[in-house]
Amino acid sequence: MKAYRAALLRFATDGVPAHSAVYEEDGLLLVGPDARGQQVVQAIGPYADLAPRHARVPCEDLRGRIIAPGFVDLHNHYPQTDVIASPAEGLLPWLEHYTFPEEERFSSPEYCAQAAAFFIAELLRNGVTTSLSFASAHISSVNALFEAARQPQLRLITGLCLMDRHAPDGVRNDTEQSLLDTEALIQKWHGVDRLGYAITPRFAPSCSDAQLRGAGELADRYPQVWIQSHVAENKDEIRWARELFPQSRSYLATYADFGLMRERAIYAHCIHFDDEDRALMRGSGAAAAVSPTSNLFLGSGFFDYAGADRIGMRYGLASDVGGGTSFSPFHTMLAAYVVGREGQTKPGLSLKPQHLWWQHTAGAAAALGLDGRSGHACIGNLQPGCEADFVVLNPQATPLLARRTARASSLDELLFALIVLGDDRVVERTVVSQRTP
Ligand SMILES: [Zn+2]
Repeated sequence: MKAYRAALLRFATDGVPAHSAVYEEDGLLLVGPDARGQQVVQAIGPYADLAPRHARVPCEDLRGRIIAPGFVDLHNHYPQTDVIASPAEGLLPWLEHYTFPEEERFSSPEYCAQAAAFFIAELLRNGVTTSLSFASAHISSVNALFEAARQPQLRLITGLCLMDRHAPDGVRNDTEQSLLDTEALIQKWHGVDRLGYAITPRFAPSCSDAQLRGAGELADRYPQVWIQSHVAENKDEIRWARELFPQSRSYLATYADFGLMRERAIYAHCIHFDDEDRALMRGSGAAAAVSPTSNLFLGSGFFDYAGADRIGMRYGLASDVGGGTSFSPFHTMLAAYVVGREGQTKPGLSLKPQHLWWQHTAGAAAALGLDGRSGHACIGNLQPGCEADFVVLNPQATPLLARRTARASSLDELLFALIVLGDDRVVERTVVSQRTP
């Protein structure tokens, strides 16, 4: 058992809105192994209450720092790490000119290994302890990312990118073989340590009917495995998807028609939806990976938070690197605020700082089905029993942050100063829950 004395941030679980934060100015966090040997939160609360009861537990004094849940990134692409910050005329030209040529290089296991090692290190440096990531269409890219995540014990979910048409030679896969490979990779990796598999059709236009149907059959056969894809990001993409799948009611409905919407299905973007799409998300248990820096960068549009909340569909935040412009959850939360404020194409609203933070921690964990319900692991929060993934944040990391946070008169003001002014310099330490035999 180990204790940490610091300011503590976590999210309420019962009786109040889920995105209400609980903040302990002078708190104590106790971490120790559960029955499986996994490091979990054993107790959390005011220092004055807990310290006398745990006087013999070694305690690290981190007063002046904030301990908060590790961030959960619901969507990103590790093969796009090196095409971040590439300009283009929107999504489809960006894929053609930058992304596909780079992804072709992931046929080499050596290239994959060094890219995977950098990517995992960059996530950790930015305070991300769980990631749902795309690999490329090459088996080597999937194996390399799982291997890179295994030693630091990062909770990583990825899968072979399914793409059997409308992409150049070298980044496509064969329909039948890609489905056999997917099943073999599920059996090899899903549930090993903290690793999880995601069935990964890139997006409907890149997949034949046969590939989507096969993916849906696998999703049915392996209900604990995740599904990840893209939907309704860009109007040209939507037109294209409608031409290719005219029998479906909408672009999103295409995925439902192939059996790819259920709990543990995460769809990136979800911008250009109507209420029937939102109801389909809610009814199926699928969730949106809102990717605001990417949507602003590529000019794709603005996620409609009011619409999502009105219908009750689930969502959380994602960097979408490399369409997204930053690995930093702080930059993503700020961009989400800007997207929420936009009031020309949809109702504009001011998302509360606690809500922004929740979307990138406990809310994203709930979207993944990892919020402790029905016997599954709990991440993205620091309630007792949650896996002990956390960040140590320095609210005085820069001169400007020190001045602004010193004036904060409420928790929301403190969190908003960190969201607007923070980046990787705020993250002093990232602690990933370890499992000891
Ligand atoms: Zn993406």
